Amino acid sequence: MADSFVSFDRPQQADLDRCVHCGLCLNACPTYRELGLEMDSPRGRIYQMVQVANGAAIGPSYVEHIELCLACRACESACPSGVQYGRLVEAARAEIENQVRRPLAARLMRRFIFAKLLQSPNLMTSAGAMAYLYQASGLQKIVRGSGVWKLFGRLGRLEQLAPPAEPPFFFGKLGRTFLPEGSRRYRVALMAGCIANVSFARLNEATVRVLQKNGCEVVVPAGQGCCGALHVHAGMRREARKLARQNIDAVLAGGFDAVITNAAGCGSTLKEYGHLLERDLDYAEKARCFGALVRDVTEFLASIELNHEIRPLPLTVTYQDSCHLAHGQKVRVAPRRLLAAIPGLKFREMALADLCCGSAGIYNVIENEMAMEVLAKKMENINATGAGVIATANPGCMLQLAAGVRLHGRSQRVVHVVELLDQAYRTAKSG
Ligand code: SF4
Ligand code: SF4
Repeated sequence: MADSFVSFDRPQQADLDRCVHCGLCLNACPTYRELGLEMDSPRGRIYQMVQVANGAAIGPSYVEHIELCLACRACESACPSGVQYGRLVEAARAEIENQVRRPLAARLMRRFIFAKLLQSPNLMTSAGAMAYLYQASGLQKIVRGSGVWKLFGRLGRLEQLAPPAEPPFFFGKLGRTFLPEGSRRYRVALMAGCIANVSFARLNEATVRVLQKNGCEVVVPAGQGCCGALHVHAGMRREARKLARQNIDAVLAGGFDAVITNAAGCGSTLKEYGHLLERDLDYAEKARCFGALVRDVTEFLASIELNHEIRPLPLTVTYQDSCHLAHGQKVRVAPRRLLAAIPGLKFREMALADLCCGSAGIYNVIENEMAMEVLAKKMENINATGAGVIATANPGCMLQLAAGVRLHGRSQRVVHVVELLDQAYRTAKSG
């Protein structure tokens, strides 16, 4: 379908005008903290967006500073003037995408990843099967254990971030309905993600079980696909809109009490479908309704009366806020409340828990050096807690933190909050 909204895919003047250049966001910004450069701070980036809005050409320096932003939205939380920085940087990237012709190799790679791979269960299944062979053959263990990856520079560092493959993949559960334990209290739809179907199949299964334990009939709607978050972050809004319409068509008519996601990065975009499609006459209202139904799984569970049939877990746990949960969705208390509901679990808050870990969608692949510097600092704060378990609420953060543990950690276990709840419920059942 033709996309006629390209002219709106640039930072809007009203959004830019909200910034009063006070600088109160600077200290919250990981790239500014790392580099100390105004042009790599939120205020500096907004200043550059204003220059472009006033007619300056989009040059390589602008592209570099906008792309080095993690889009973590920590500046949004720090800003007293209500600047919606996430919206600005996404629009700036869309404008770059529409106006800048990238080198052929970059164009082909982006096209393959965003227009093909992330939208094709068949391609993801094939890629997952190959990744599984690499893991199961023991080759991955040898590469990581021997340190040989260090010889391959950037490619070696990227290997550390390769998502695992977890057969059987969750694609087989699309279209299925899981009945609640006991009487039905809610009927919810689960968004299973794209890569998560391959790399976080066990997390998706744990999410279904925990929801069932809490009286939910869980439907995994057939016809759903990638949420488009990675596309939005990369400026590819035409593809993102196509995916948003597909998901709305697959889910909205189901009459669900909530649409659940266990991925904070996806959740932000799913909640913001109303903004993404606000100029689409056929979908604007549907997109608003869809967005209003979306709940992060931790947010949903903390909002209902929790099933307290939970056995103790004698673990010491720290929690890393996922940027798109804490800053994007303003959900900070819910995951901590769920952890507090598990008897025997000792919680240790880390310093700067809501500072980005460097994951940021596929930022850690594209801007690997900065992502790894941010990660190294994060691991210092995690190690200082002495916790043996790092909990978070986003699969992307889990991958990044797992790499952090391998590179700088103390053999901590990295889990999703829901996996700990699942473990506690299962212990209760078997005990
Ligand atoms: S984004 Fe907000 S905090 Fe940062 S300089 Fe602008 S007004 Fe100040
Ligand atoms: S989104 Fe994150 S990295 Fe980007 S300017 Fe804001 S605080 Fe800095």
